[in-house]
Parts: sequence; C-alpha cells; structure tokens
Amino acid sequence: MTRFLPHPQLLDSPRHRDWPRYPAPQLPDRPRLPPSGADIVIVGAGPAGLAVAAALWHVGVHDVVIIDRDGEPAARFLDRVDRLGQRVLRSPYEHHPGVEGYRDCELRDFARMHWSHLTSVERREIRMSQAGHRSVVPVDVFDAYCRHTSAIHQVPQRLWRGEVRGIDAGADHATVRGSCQDNGVERDFAIEAGHVVLCQGEERRAAPATWWRGDRPTGVGYWDEPVPADAGRVVVVGAGLTAAHLIHNALDRGARVAWVVREEAERYQCSDVNASFFRAEGRARFDSLARPASWDERLALMGRERRASVMFEFRPLLAAAEEDGRLTVHRGAGIDAVTDNRVRLDDGRPVSGDHVVLALGTLPSIGAGLLPGHVVGARDGWPDLDERTLAYRGAPRVFAAGAAACMVLGPAARNIDGHRVATARIAGSIAAAVREGVGTRA
Ligand SMILES: Cc1cc2nc3c(=O)[nH]c(=O)nc-3n(C[C@H](O)[C@H](O)[C@H](O)COP(=O)(O)OP(=O)(O)OC[C@H]3O[C@@H](n4cnc5c(N)ncnc54)[C@H](O)[C@@H]3O)c2cc1C
Repeated sequence: MTRFLPHPQLLDSPRHRDWPRYPAPQLPDRPRLPPSGADIVIVGAGPAGLAVAAALWHVGVHDVVIIDRDGEPAARFLDRVDRLGQRVLRSPYEHHPGVEGYRDCELRDFARMHWSHLTSVERREIRMSQAGHRSVVPVDVFDAYCRHTSAIHQVPQRLWRGEVRGIDAGADHATVRGSCQDNGVERDFAIEAGHVVLCQGEERRAAPATWWRGDRPTGVGYWDEPVPADAGRVVVVGAGLTAAHLIHNALDRGARVAWVVREEAERYQCSDVNASFFRAEGRARFDSLARPASWDERLALMGRERRASVMFEFRPLLAAAEEDGRLTVHRGAGIDAVTDNRVRLDDGRPVSGDHVVLALGTLPSIGAGLLPGHVVGARDGWPDLDERTLAYRGAPRVFAAGAAACMVLGPAARNIDGHRVATARIAGSIAAAVREGVGTRA
C-alpha cells in the first residue's frame, strides 16, 4: 500500500508576488453612499458574497449593491490567513468562488495562465490537480483569482464599504439599514431591496464564560490577534489548522510551545470535513428531498462530521518539534480556567507561558442582530431556512449563503465549495423571481 506523506514544503508558497492585475475600474463620479434602491443587496463580500455577485451577473441580475465592512472582496478571509502566515489554502483547485456552468475562467485555469509566476512546487501541484489528485492552492493564486472574478463581474462598481445594522423584511421588499464612512463622517443609509442575500461568514468563537470572570486576563489573546514577537514560551489552545499555524510560527522564531488539545489525539486530515460532503451524495445526507433527514439527525451529523483537524503537511514538522522538546502536547486536556499567561487544565495541572493563544474556531453568523429573532428562528445556533431556496422561512425575500446554510447543505457549506452550491440555489431563485417581475425596480 502507498502511504500518503505530503511534504511540508507545500506550506511555503511565496506571498504578495507582483501579480498581473486586471485593470481597476475608475469610479470618479460614484456617490459615496450606496443608492437608495436596488434589486438585490448582498451583505458581505467574502468568497460567498463574491460567488453570489458573480452568479447573479450571469443570470442577468445586474442591479446589485454589495455592502462589506472592508469594502474589498475576500478581504477578511485574506487578512485572517495572512495574520496566521497561512500560504496555501486547505481546499483544492476545484473549490473556488467562480460560477459553475458558465464559461468563466476557473481557479486552476487561472493558475495555469500565470505559470511563469509560479514556483516549481506550485506547478507540480497544478499537475497533481489535473491528474485528479489532492493538491494545494497558493493563497497568492486565490487572492489574484478573487480580484479577477471581482473585476470581470463588475463587483468594484457595486461594492460599498459599510456596516449593515438591520433589515426590515416586508412582503414585497426589504429595507437594508446601515452606515458608511463619508470623508471621516459616519453617515446612515437605507436601501430598499427586492431581495437580500446575507453572506456574513463567521466570527471567532469566544472562550466559555467559565474560563475567566470579568475582563480577559493579561497575556491571553485569540488566534486573530497579534502574538507578541518576544514571547519565548507560547501556550496554544485548540486542535485545528489555526492552532497548527500558530505553533509553527512560534517554533519558527525560536519559541517553545505548549499545545493543549481536548481530544485524546490531534487529527491530521486534508479537510475538516469528509470529502463526500463536497459531493452530491454527501449533501444528500442533509438535503434529500426524497427522504429529508430530521433536525436531530442533521445536528448529530454536524457534530460528528465537522471536527477540528490539521493539514497533513504539518505532521512531520510538529512531530519533530515534539521529539526534540520544543513542543509539548497536552492531549486529552480540557481547560478549567485561564488566568494571566496561563491555563489550568481540568486535571488541575497549570500550563504557563509568556502568552496564551486561544484558537477555538469560529461561529457562523446567522443574521441575528440584523433580522428580528422570530425571523432568524435560531435553533441550536442555526437559522430557519427554506431547504429549496435558502431563504428565511420567516422572510422569503432574505437569503443566507455560507456557513449559515450548514443545516441545509451539510458541513461543507462553510467552505468555498459550499458557497458555490448555495449560490446556485439562491441565484436560481432570485433569477426566477426577477424574471416574473417580483422584487425588481424596473
Ligand atoms: C484561517 C482560515 C482559513 C481558512 N481556509 C479555508 C480554505 O482553505 N478553504 C475553504 O474552503 N475555507 C477556508 N476557511 C473557511 C473560510 O472562512 C470560508 O471558506 C470563507 O472565508 C467564508 O467566506 P464567507 O464569504 O462566507 O465569509 P467571510 O470571508 O468571513 O466574509 C464575510 C464578509 O462579510 C462581512 N460582514 C459580515 N457582517 C456584515 C455586516 N453586518 N455588514 C457589512 N459586512 C459584513 C465580513 O466583515 C466579511 O468581510 C478558512 C477559514 C479561516 C478562518
């Protein structure tokens, strides 16, 4: 039997290369605030929002306004991976925010078109992908591809930097309220929209309330915050890829690391989700119209099938560090309390360092805070969505893509490939409504 042993050098793609850019549109006369009406408002311009905007473009729905806190496509995603020093995506070339079924350039074609900018390792990965094998995608390629997809579907012309704060969902339209910065002054806007698509992504998961009382202890941070460069001993809590990057970074600059993992052993996998959930047969376990799974069955599947894990490439690095004593792994160790620069394990042992980093993952944003509670219909942290359309059952003009759609599309809804599946469903529903003149301003 052949053993699959990916090499750690795959993790080392260069970042921020001088990449050829599609010319940026000049927008001299564009108003600083979004218009007061649009057929569609998309909240969030991450990979999911980008996928929805591109798909709507192809089905002929062009009166679209996109509102995003950063005002740049995929900015939060790229900011997060860059902060962690993550140089390659975990998902393969086939997973991209482009549109399926249209003659857009797909991620792998895009990478091949830029062959001369790639390293020999990156080129080999493309060949692996062409041969149907697992491959890793450089963040640089994904970043450039998002810009390309954004440019060719005229996203910059329709994207405003701002914060959506509330949505009043009526029977024949929805009003999206929020604010934008205008020359340093915060100004409110209200957009009357035929349909709204929430693509809000996920927020970092906070520590349980029992870990500390009152203010966060000193010397304790989360994964998306800077780790002090002079921390010589770092404690990392969490079992996912984020934890692995934090450990790798700390080891790289000569620190010693204590890693606290709740499970009996860390898990090394290509993805957090079994590959079948990226395919129709896996999704059918959630989504079968013939035999719909009950809520409890889906909840159990979510708990079982989406578990923190680390990309294979890290295994030799972390094993070597553990062997020579630079890394100490506390396996099967829950956290009882977190105090200044230290954690207390549930067996009473203290683990201390100069800095503690909590890498506890993320929680899907499900529209809470924007829509009234009865419309979100939150149950076990998931919204109440119509399985066929991904619209909120309590607000059929408002849709959710991305992680919020997990209880309909399965655990892969959180990933780039899942956004494509959600997008196809949402864009199809909106296009059909717009064709019938429902929710348009024309
Ligand atoms: C470190 C890390 C690495 C990952 N790597 C991969 C990977 O390799 N492959 C993969 O498939 N998945 C990966 N994921 C999962 C990944 O987060 C998603 O695939 C992707 O980012 C989700 O896209 P999204 O558009 O749903 O959310 P996001 O990328 O988070 O985008 C949502 C956007 O909406 C904005 N927003 C939210 N609420 C509002 C509001 N009220 N008003 C205005 N704007 C708002 C946010 O600020 C953000 O800009 C990774 C996640 C992390 C954290």
